[in-house]
Amino acid sequence: MAGLEVDILTLFPGLCEGYLAGSILAKAREAGLVDVAVHDVREHAAGKHRVADDAPYGGGAGMVMKPEPLTEAIEAARARRPGAWVVLTSPRGQVLTQALAKELAGHGRLILVCGRYEGVDERVRSVVDREVSLGDFVLTGGELAALCVVDAAGRLVPGVLGNADSAGAESFADGALEYPHYTRPPEYRGMKVPEVLLSGDHRRIERWRRRESLRVTRERRPDLFERLRLDEKDLRLIEAGDDEL
Ligand code: SAH
Repeated sequence: MAGLEVDILTLFPGLCEGYLAGSILAKAREAGLVDVAVHDVREHAAGKHRVADDAPYGGGAGMVMKPEPLTEAIEAARARRPGAWVVLTSPRGQVLTQALAKELAGHGRLILVCGRYEGVDERVRSVVDREVSLGDFVLTGGELAALCVVDAAGRLVPGVLGNADSAGAESFADGALEYPHYTRPPEYRGMKVPEVLLSGDHRRIERWRRRESLRVTRERRPDLFERLRLDEKDLRLIEAGDDEL
């Protein structure tokens, strides 16, 4: 059984397949670590034309996704994956964070529902467990949000990232942003790699990284910085110069 099992329900399967067929997610799927299936909601739409949307009651612009095809697509997915959480992508949802990605990955079975047009008939929510938003902006469809969930949750499945440590040290793992990275060459256009990183002294490097992580977080995301639980060592470290590390 894969560490993460996902069904994506969409009117545009092709939009999702392309992203899922490349890079780390494709390898994770091949290795059986992540199982993602994309389903066309239109298969559950009735009639010769398989219409999945209709005009809104009460008037107004745009079309609304009909309740029957989506509800039935969700029920069919649920029958295939018992216990899966049904997650509707929506600007009204809980904003996707690393903590939420972790929670969704931890559950392990997800049915991700992509809206289109003006959104989905309110009655679809009767078969939905969670609503997830990418942020305070409006997309044309839920596919990008569904892919973000698969990507963010999928990379947390043990074995998906090459290096077991990569998911532990990065941004948001402990509430702070990550420290800056450098690779070769040691000097580029006059910009030098910090001496500490070339020192081979792993304890100093660790302290440098912690200090940079705290400084970047304080500067860029004071809201996150305020919520960090810093100890005496951190408070001293954040003021330290490179030669004091
Ligand atoms: N009329 C709606 C927006 C519909 S956008 C409103 O004003 O709230 C169409 C679809 O795109 C939605 O059903 C949802 O699935 C997706 N979508 C749009 N913005 C999103 C966001 N910020 N996060 C997640 N999904 C979003």
